[in-house]
Amino acid sequence: MSQISANNPVLKSWIEVSSGSDFPIQNIPFGVVKSENLTPRVVSRIGNKVIDLKTLHVLGYLENLPFELSDFDVNLLNPMMKKGKKAVRDLRNRLSKLFDVNQPDLQKNEQHVAQVLIPVENVCMCMPVQIGDYTDFYSSREHATNVGMMFRDPANALLPNWLWLPVGYHGRSSSVIISGEPVYRPKGQIKPNPEEPPIYAPCRNLDFELETAFVTFDGKPLGESISTEEAEEYIFGMVLFNDWSARDIQTWEYVPLGPFLAKNFASSISPWIVTLDALQPYKADGPAQDPEVLSYLKYKGQLSYDIQLEVFIEPENGEETKVCTSNFKYMYWNMAQQLAHHTVNGCNIRCGDLMGSGTISGPTPDSYGSMLELAWKGTRPLKMNDGSERRFLQDGDTVTMRGFSSKDGIRIGFGEVSGKIYPPKG
Ligand code: MN
Repeated sequence: MSQISANNPVLKSWIEVSSGSDFPIQNIPFGVVKSENLTPRVVSRIGNKVIDLKTLHVLGYLENLPFELSDFDVNLLNPMMKKGKKAVRDLRNRLSKLFDVNQPDLQKNEQHVAQVLIPVENVCMCMPVQIGDYTDFYSSREHATNVGMMFRDPANALLPNWLWLPVGYHGRSSSVIISGEPVYRPKGQIKPNPEEPPIYAPCRNLDFELETAFVTFDGKPLGESISTEEAEEYIFGMVLFNDWSARDIQTWEYVPLGPFLAKNFASSISPWIVTLDALQPYKADGPAQDPEVLSYLKYKGQLSYDIQLEVFIEPENGEETKVCTSNFKYMYWNMAQQLAHHTVNGCNIRCGDLMGSGTISGPTPDSYGSMLELAWKGTRPLKMNDGSERRFLQDGDTVTMRGFSSKDGIRIGFGEVSGKIYPPKG
């Protein structure tokens, strides 16, 4: 497959990029925007400028690539993604070249520049992908251990299957929402008193889950499997993912079939999809796996990624408090193993499927990826900067997750995923 020339760390763009920006020329993520003046369309971004791919195509700058105008003049990335990994890699390389400071073609055409670049504050980010199926894994050993210690047996925190396979469940795509959309506190069955029957009430233990998710290209036909070696060829890119959770509803409902209404009321994604190509310089070793995994889960080389992840809570009219710093590389099972396991039985993956990592907790108490763990089931309330305390999330709280990879002065960031909690709807 073609080289990823867009990742060259020496590249500079003629678009201004402030230091500390998540979006240098080496990132080139994909998203969908609209505005009062613009129909929804496929875009990329450098610095604080949105790059209008529809207009670039109309003006002839995307010639000799396997894309049509209709791939960009649309409110979803799926048609573009349908063209596959090589096509998207070549598109990213082309964009890198067009906006390279040493390339005059577009740079010197003021009229075209004015048509192609849009200040990011002038557009509204749209849900970028039509998500087909949504799967959520449970791949952080620290998270699974913490939850097992709290709810089961501290001496046998991990269930017997956990070290043998990437545990997961099929979630619901209809309630995956984009950053900024409101989150309404769910209602349901909870059982505050173990000696008494359940009650119908608003969730009292509302939580976030710090996750990432990956979005797939078309996979293989039903019946075939994707190997760990092939897996990354089927991954388009990643987003930050807040898998909101109602812990009290979950505790009562989850036996024996697993998560249901505690999980499917909202899951928020960040609007820019950072390609797996852009993350290649940040590959990292994953945790050692013991016992040795079965043959279809074995892999060669580095398949984890060094992505720093942070969670902030901002109370209504208050200031933001950082409550968690974690890292994607702590994940026990990597994305290639997740995809290999998901397809080992012949399950087919389609363009636009979303796979959540599971809550990403690290080894130290400040790296736990949920309120459940940070406040240890409510027994160690978190202190906020405004003096208030949190056991779980309150109405009016805004939870924001940020993530980035950084090396040799180049920072590839995801922007953020944010959501504010509102009281239950009627
Ligand atoms: Mn989850």
